[in-house]
Amino acid sequence: MFPDYRLRQREYLLQISRAMTAQLDLPSLLKLILENAVEILSGQAGLIVLRRQDGTFYPRASYGLPVRAIHLFDPLWRDLPTTADRRHWQIPDLSMRLSLASAAAGVPLRQVVALPMIIKDEIIGLIYIFRSRGAGFTVNDQQVLADFADQAAIAVQNARLYQQVNDERARLNAIIENSGDGVMILGPDRTIHTWNRALTGMTGVPADEAIGRHCYEVLDLHNRQGVSVCHTTCPLVKPPEDGRLYAEGDTLRADGIRVSLADNYSPQYDEEGNLVSVIANVRDVSRLREAEELKNTLLSVISHELKTPVSIIKGYAGTLARQDADWDKETLADGLAIIEEEADKLNELINNLLDASRLQAGGIKLQFAYLDLPSMAEKAVEKFRTQTDRHTFSVDFPPNFPPVKGDYERIREVLSNLISNAIKYSPDGGLIRVGGRVEEGEVRVFVSDEGVGIPATEQERIFDRFTRVDSSLTRQTPGAGLGLFLVKAVVEGHGGRVWVESQPGHGATFYFTLPIDSS
Ligand code: ADP
Repeated sequence: MFPDYRLRQREYLLQISRAMTAQLDLPSLLKLILENAVEILSGQAGLIVLRRQDGTFYPRASYGLPVRAIHLFDPLWRDLPTTADRRHWQIPDLSMRLSLASAAAGVPLRQVVALPMIIKDEIIGLIYIFRSRGAGFTVNDQQVLADFADQAAIAVQNARLYQQVNDERARLNAIIENSGDGVMILGPDRTIHTWNRALTGMTGVPADEAIGRHCYEVLDLHNRQGVSVCHTTCPLVKPPEDGRLYAEGDTLRADGIRVSLADNYSPQYDEEGNLVSVIANVRDVSRLREAEELKNTLLSVISHELKTPVSIIKGYAGTLARQDADWDKETLADGLAIIEEEADKLNELINNLLDASRLQAGGIKLQFAYLDLPSMAEKAVEKFRTQTDRHTFSVDFPPNFPPVKGDYERIREVLSNLISNAIKYSPDGGLIRVGGRVEEGEVRVFVSDEGVGIPATEQERIFDRFTRVDSSLTRQTPGAGLGLFLVKAVVEGHGGRVWVESQPGHGATFYFTLPIDSS
């Protein structure tokens, strides 16, 4: 062998090695290896085929062959010997296979040499070099090709490993990204490196706004007393004595909604014990907190609101039943009337509580019928007229007010709740108007009073359960903050809307709509 031939080969192999470290793009690498192998072996064409999982082979790189004709060379890599020992490795009838294939493809190729690409005793592919003229390939040529085959095998192996790492990383990213829990990965300085979709959902902060910033800037958790959890007791900075890396607190989303989050941290260390990253698992515990608060409110409402009428009833019953007293008829009647009134209040409160829990459990079933709202309003007003002498009432509906489909009992409750509130929250009396108008495709009913009114900031909130405006009047007025919650649920169950217009000090007008049945 000529020394410059060896030199050229070394140069080629060096070039290939360099390309291998520079790029991991398998097709271009195989092409480069093939081109050099064809050139150094003075061939005219070449092919690299790779093995599939099922043991069959497919062409992965070609040189000097028309692409359309490559499949005609298939017989060259069919029924191959399975041994991975390159010294005794030979494709039976290879020349014959080539003559048939090159005739079919119309490509005049006369000589072929083929070698397996072997990794860990396993054939992962084959390299073929073809000549269209000149002498056959020598043993020397085979040895030279073996070097190229090795290079190609390493390239394939590297690419596979790289692909595996990439797939693994993509899989991990997909798991993190699609996890139902919030996941963030922090650097040792508490900057955010990863921020998944669930966290974006919880906080409203998109990943590109969170990544790169400190966790305490993006997720500034506060406890119920308003103290920053991140700045004062971050478990990553000051691990608590029990070693639990856990923080819980509230944060305000960009849209103004408060969310309660619970973070579980797990720090990752390198071999020398240095902190390299922290994986934080974040859960939205708002519902849990809400349920807890609801339970507490419910207990306090029950104890307060139920206790008062019960003690009044007990007091009056005890007094009236005294053996030593001889009550006159009038006192007896008055006492019994109070007992009855308080029992009614109790009954109403219990019904409201039951309805509220039924609503939560899956909604109230509505029994639809045609309702005559003007007469229902009239009846409701009649009932209340006897209970107050400070208020005057008016019922105001246009003639021919259309019948509306609805649940009689529930709509009666809605009117009753609104009128009862109008009385309760106008302690100085005044006019209470109940009326309705026909709008496009719906009716709008209103109940207005001249009472204390509702501040703008509270006008939406009062429809939430157990919500009452904090004022001295409310504190003195019995109520559980359930009436409007039920009003809203019933109206919305009918496909309508409810809202209030009010100026504090100038009364309030509650409106609700119900769709007019067009069928
Ligand atoms: P409750 O009357 O039992 O407190 P509601 O759900 O009926 O519960 O009402 C919630 C709150 O809305 C009341 O506590 C009160 O602060 C306010 N509110 C309701 N109706 C009126 C009204 N007509 N005028 C002023 N405030 C009202």
